[in-house]
Amino acid sequence: MSAGEVEENTLWNKVTLSVSGFTSLTGIHETEIAVVGGGVAGLSLAYHLTEAGMAPVVLEALTPGGDAAGKSAGLVVSLSVRHSPYELLEQYGEEKGRCLVDMIGESGEYVFSLVRKLGLDCAPQQTGFLGPARTVREVERVNKVASEWRSFGYGIQTVDKNTICRLTGLDTYQGALLDPAGGAINPLAYVRELARAATGQGARLFINSPVFEVHKTGTGWRLESDKFRVNARTVVLCAGGGNRKLSAGLANTVLPFRVFQMATEPLDSEVREVILPENHSMTDVSPNIYSMRYDRDGRLITACPAFMLNNAKSRIVHFVEERLKHFSPLLASARIRYLWMGTTWISRSILPRFTELSEGLFAMQACNGRGLAINTVLGREAAGFIKQGHTGKLNLLIERPDAIRHYRLMSHLPAILINAARLRSRVMHRITGLHCYN
Ligand SMILES: Cc1cc2nc3c(=O)[nH]c(=O)nc-3n(C[C@H](O)[C@H](O)[C@H](O)COP(=O)(O)OP(=O)(O)OC[C@H]3O[C@@H](n4cnc5c(N)ncnc54)[C@H](O)[C@@H]3O)c2cc1C
Repeated sequence: MSAGEVEENTLWNKVTLSVSGFTSLTGIHETEIAVVGGGVAGLSLAYHLTEAGMAPVVLEALTPGGDAAGKSAGLVVSLSVRHSPYELLEQYGEEKGRCLVDMIGESGEYVFSLVRKLGLDCAPQQTGFLGPARTVREVERVNKVASEWRSFGYGIQTVDKNTICRLTGLDTYQGALLDPAGGAINPLAYVRELARAATGQGARLFINSPVFEVHKTGTGWRLESDKFRVNARTVVLCAGGGNRKLSAGLANTVLPFRVFQMATEPLDSEVREVILPENHSMTDVSPNIYSMRYDRDGRLITACPAFMLNNAKSRIVHFVEERLKHFSPLLASARIRYLWMGTTWISRSILPRFTELSEGLFAMQACNGRGLAINTVLGREAAGFIKQGHTGKLNLLIERPDAIRHYRLMSHLPAILINAARLRSRVMHRITGLHCYN
């Protein structure tokens, strides 16, 4: 397939039922609680608020899952690969650290248990998540982190070189972390199904209803656009990257990282019997990230960072097809069919954030390229916190917004780091013959 035949659209838009039954908002309205943003964070929060007997108004600029969630790869992965529980305890103290550990540890399983409980039609595959490691140092880190998670009661495993080569079909890796609770979903369907569950229990969701401004009033907050005004006692900003435009305090607190995501035509069964034969989802632990999963129909979904200079479609398609071939000759016939780009937002700590901007005005932000699972849990915790009159576990996690210094310059940092990792990988390949990540 030539680059011209590649659709610049998300796979999820193609395979997911369209949204119906929601309208945009006009006029002046009152509500106890308003949620800005109908992504995974906002709709998990809305659903859990309805479970607690509340009826939030949700204002979504596009349609549910219209931004990062619907552009994601749909890997359900807790942050257990990245974070060591003992390091979290050391950094954040016993109480707050433990709170983070528990939220992270349970997040993968929680998504799938919610999917089962509510019967969410989102092609769930709880087949396990692999975090393969290429170097001895990466393997040591993976083993350390996995054993720590086990000591906290979470079932994170490790696998050796032979096993990871068999489970990926790639001979690149020396070992891996395996989280049996992880896997993959259709992320757009997941968010739309959360919208169905929330509105089925009393939430009011308005689509194509972007909030332009947030103002303090005598009794709470006013959300404004050119078409509506919503007065609410409590407001939670769950607008992902949009949060930074709604509150000056959040303006420079997260860094953008642009990622190309792509899906191939369905692969032949002979290829699938070798590459990810047990249908795991995977993202390796290298800084020059490599990820793969299948969708329900056997399309391979993979990603590459947006380069700083030339992002022409033909170049990206060529680069990724070459990269697949390079990883396994079996993937030489894989042809990219869908190509899309999304922006993931990186916080300083690479951890979920719940921020109190002012009394009754909160923001939830936990993207960091891995928000599907953790945002679902954070939504549940935020609902409990609001229901209990702003007390409870989440109190421990409340942060003040902290602007990143030299933001303009720093906003290029994620792209610079990933390009540096690519370069390093190439140099290592030249020097040592180690498999190159490209
Ligand atoms: C290319 C890519 C791949 C990814 N892959 C994965 C993955 O495999 N696994 C994983 O766990 N995570 C992945 N992520 C990250 C994941 O998508 C995010 O962490 C998650 O979607 C964040 O959820 P959210 O609800 O905070 O933000 P979003 O999903 O961005 O939702 C925010 C919503 O707010 C709306 N909004 C914005 N501004 C306003 C406004 N002013 N008024 C009203 N509404 C507004 C937006 O339209 C959007 O629908 C990926 C991200 C990208 C970009």
